[in-house]
Amino acid sequence: MTPIVAIVGRPNVGKSTLFNRLTRTRQALVDDLPGVTRDRLYGRAKIEGREVTLVDTGGFDPPADQAFAAEVHAQIQMALDEADVILCLADGRAGLTPQDQEVARHLRRTATKPVVWAVNKVDGPNLEDAAAEFYSLGVEHLFFISAAHARGVPDLLEALAELLPPEGEDEAAQDLGEVRLALLGRPNVGKSSLINRLTGQERVVVSDVPGTTRDAVDTPLEVDGKRYLLIDTAGIRRQGRVNRGLEKAGVFRSLRAVERAHVGAVLVDASEGITDQDLRLSGHVLDSHRALIMVVNKWDLLAGDEYRQKILLHELEMARRFAPWTPLLFMSAKTGQGVKKLLPTVDQLFAEYNQRLNTGQLNQALSQITEHHPPPLVKNKRLKIYYGSQVASRPPTVVLKVNDPSRVHFSYRRYLTNELRRALGLTIAPLRLIFRGKQ
Ligand code: GDP
Ligand code: GDP
Repeated sequence: MTPIVAIVGRPNVGKSTLFNRLTRTRQALVDDLPGVTRDRLYGRAKIEGREVTLVDTGGFDPPADQAFAAEVHAQIQMALDEADVILCLADGRAGLTPQDQEVARHLRRTATKPVVWAVNKVDGPNLEDAAAEFYSLGVEHLFFISAAHARGVPDLLEALAELLPPEGEDEAAQDLGEVRLALLGRPNVGKSSLINRLTGQERVVVSDVPGTTRDAVDTPLEVDGKRYLLIDTAGIRRQGRVNRGLEKAGVFRSLRAVERAHVGAVLVDASEGITDQDLRLSGHVLDSHRALIMVVNKWDLLAGDEYRQKILLHELEMARRFAPWTPLLFMSAKTGQGVKKLLPTVDQLFAEYNQRLNTGQLNQALSQITEHHPPPLVKNKRLKIYYGSQVASRPPTVVLKVNDPSRVHFSYRRYLTNELRRALGLTIAPLRLIFRGKQ
């Protein structure tokens, strides 16, 4: 499991500055799937060599009219429910505020997870003196940082790393002979309906009374002797008292579901079109090295409406540019139309996702591909690719030994990926390429 670190704090303390710093560093270092929509809500970061999902709870847009305490309590509650470590940010320039004291008090009472405090905007030593008043919070882990200038950040990361849960067995890596399929998507997109279709049973659904939570329940399913585990995130819309921002709270929970899955199916509501949220979720599935399926549900609502169908298809095409091989299914969980294609697609995707490549075949393909279209000059020097080897499956991951990874041009990388996919018979699963220089 990739641990989740949540950043909480009131607006303007520098949450997104820190978030960007931590996620950008990693994105510059690690060659991954390019071009995926990124935003400040959540991202992958590396902390002391360990991969984590970083969540900026400030990105959850708490309603503006909500009282401060309620807003922060909602943020903290989400963080406590879903994160492994909580990073509380305060503003050293503004000084210690009653709100900081309130947050500290609240956390002291309710925190079941480790909490680290970072006083931000401490850009110089004189400011550190001024910020010393934060010691009065009496918290165990307190750091003074400048997110803008990276000051104090390494010490903070070191402390965070120590508080992460021990590296356990990756649940999804255990071979239980079942394909773990997470059904993801915004509230009301049809996740429960699809599960009911697949299992042929109506599940008991808790009433829509606000504040009642139905825990995500896994549903085992056996079809034609093959076993699946449906990981459901549908209970979300019934959670909590805060209504707006709930959709994003759902995303928070989806992060966990993705971690536990092999395949993530992102459901899109045909009648509403593709939303940023759908794109974010899809990007996260791929970023997490899971296999992705996009499912357009409620296709029945567009029946006979060629104009709207055309618009949606265009939107989908644009959305899938970052991973055009992603399987795309159209269905109606309500009528059942198209649903039977889902599991066979999952099977094929899972098989490719587990594929082991033949090293000889890989390198033969590689030399043909680079001969046919040699790497362009970057900064007056040319990228040289020495050889490739598969270092992992789930998804198939190839390390390419090169003279200088900084010379990999985006478009050349895309060319290589596409050609290698073709040569290796990957039609719908992701291929992960990592460029590594000479040590
Ligand atoms: P958020 O609302 O908590 O996400 O805060 P932002 O990251 O958007 O930052 C709010 C403001 O504080 C921006 O103008 C940042 O440039 C500024 N800021 C962030 N970190 C620092 C810092 O370390 N030092 C100083 N002086 N300003 C900072
Ligand atoms: P969830 O929140 O994602 O679990 O969504 P639900 O499965 O509860 O569905 C939300 C609403 O959309 C319900 O009223 C469903 O009957 C309806 N719905 C689900 N799938 C379809 C579909 O394929 N077509 C139509 N027309 N409605 C659907």
